[in-house]
Amino acid sequence: MFHRILIANRGEIAVRIIRTCREMEIETVAVYSTADAGALHVQLATESVCIGPAKAADSYLDMSAILTAALETGCDAIHPGYGFLSENAEFADLCEKCGLKFIGPSGDVIRAMGNKAAARALMQREHVPVVPGSDGPVSGPDQAAEIAGRIGYPVLLKASSGGGGRGMRRVDAPEDLHALYAAAQAEAVACFGDGELYVEKLILRPRHIEFQILADSQGNVVHLGERDCSIQRKNQKLIEESPSKALDPELREAMGRAAVAAAKAAGYQSAGTVEFVLSAEGEFYFIEMNTRIQVEHPVTEFVTGLDLIREQIRIAAGLPLSVRQEDVRQDGCAMECRINAEDPRAGFRPGPGTTEFLHLPGGPGVRVDTALYNGCVLPPYYDSLAAKVIVHAPTRLEVIRKMRRALEELIIEGYPTTADLCHLILHQPDFVKGKYDTGFLEQHMDELLRWDCEGEA
Ligand code: ADP
Repeated sequence: MFHRILIANRGEIAVRIIRTCREMEIETVAVYSTADAGALHVQLATESVCIGPAKAADSYLDMSAILTAALETGCDAIHPGYGFLSENAEFADLCEKCGLKFIGPSGDVIRAMGNKAAARALMQREHVPVVPGSDGPVSGPDQAAEIAGRIGYPVLLKASSGGGGRGMRRVDAPEDLHALYAAAQAEAVACFGDGELYVEKLILRPRHIEFQILADSQGNVVHLGERDCSIQRKNQKLIEESPSKALDPELREAMGRAAVAAAKAAGYQSAGTVEFVLSAEGEFYFIEMNTRIQVEHPVTEFVTGLDLIREQIRIAAGLPLSVRQEDVRQDGCAMECRINAEDPRAGFRPGPGTTEFLHLPGGPGVRVDTALYNGCVLPPYYDSLAAKVIVHAPTRLEVIRKMRRALEELIIEGYPTTADLCHLILHQPDFVKGKYDTGFLEQHMDELLRWDCEGEA
């Protein structure tokens, strides 16, 4: 087993990883930018190293600074968390070259899954259902138009190297295609340095269903069930839950099998996520594979009783999975609300600042993953995730009730957050019934904010 792990990340996920390392009696090295000198992950780690100024490009994305820190502090592995360098194939390769185990899949697998058009083509060959569209990338707008004409509008133009909803455009009619193609391509070049696009049919009102998988170096692959992440704003997830109300046991079984096949086709190792869209008619289609631990992983940890960070570390150390597929439990229901430092009343404008007062919820079945503490500063340079509130109960209705009361206990003063919006969603009748799709938030936003005003009056 590893002796010392460097955590190439910050915020709640760095804290989360340190917690498991301590339970496994593995020492940790935190890296931090000058803006994070007082951050919780720095205080909790065995040792810490400042790797540069506030700007992520000069610190959390600086590969040589991070590798140097790992070597100088005697680490034998690096955990990248999510975001930053977690899906950077070059970084994974460099870690291995430096004799440091990268806790994640190999650079080659990251590269293969990072090109979404190529990943899609691979899944097609392996008979994993993909959304109807182009076979790999398109050569230009004319070919995109030809394919769109064949599969029917509306379609999505997507960047092969895309992520976070960037480089993606919905096209409703042939006359709009050329202009939207140029816009998607320009955004893809600006964000990812790669203007390659592919075409997918737009599935109307789908649910976003993803399967957590684990794969070890001995060829064992299991899935840990699904997460329904359909409550999204501009492709950013806000509330996630497991199990999904949209899946019956047969569909779960079929999607789980497809997720395992996808992971095997990719030659995957570590924890990963296979994302699908599920149409209103119950057809599911692969959209992409995420080769990292995800923000919403605690939902799966609650229902399965597994520690996914521990599994990742064990896999990286060459140990076999600690579960077989037939031993995987899906016990009760779990839900996560993302508490972002954003103002839903001002177009979700991020509002970093000082945490003037903090009170976190507790009690049975409540977990809070956060790096916040009273008085801590939330710097403006990074993502706006301030805390995750996760709850677990035997039934979905109990989960909803528990989440409501957990959010009622939560107090964060100093900046606006998405906590109240999540609380309102937990009272929306369609949400309570589990009848929602990825269009839910856009459709109900005005109604929810109106309720809020009525509450204050
Ligand atoms: P990114 O990697 O940029 O987040 P994804 O391919 O994962 O892009 O898509 C982001 C979101 O967009 C998904 O969660 C889903 O809600 C929606 N989406 C993606 N592909 C389709 C599709 N073909 N039809 C309908 N919605 C889609």
